[in-house]
Amino acid sequence: MNDNASHETLPTTNMPCPHWCVLPTGHGFRSLTHEGLLMRCHEGPDHSTADVAIGLVADETALSDDGPVASLTVPTVFVCSDDATLGRHDVPSLRRIAAALLNAADELDRITGS
Ligand SMILES: [Zn+2]
Repeated sequence: MNDNASHETLPTTNMPCPHWCVLPTGHGFRSLTHEGLLMRCHEGPDHSTADVAIGLVADETALSDDGPVASLTVPTVFVCSDDATLGRHDVPSLRRIAAALLNAADELDRITGS
């Protein structure tokens, strides 16, 4: 798949991202809030394991593609899997997930200055 071609179809903006966002520069707003504000999600480095998706995210809303920013949430770590209970895991899988969660927490500390 040509990654550049797929990004060309996405909306773009000149508004900056947080320094930790790994999405392409100028990734645009993709949805509308109930209040009619544009919304996009900033994503940090991926800490996923084979079984669990783990990553840093923050949501931003704006009045238009050119701003101004209406809100920007503090970054948090999302944790999810295909299974609503996050599945059943053996010891090696649990250790991989625990290590990945600790890495994500350390990165969140660095980003937020905690
Ligand atoms: Zn971003």
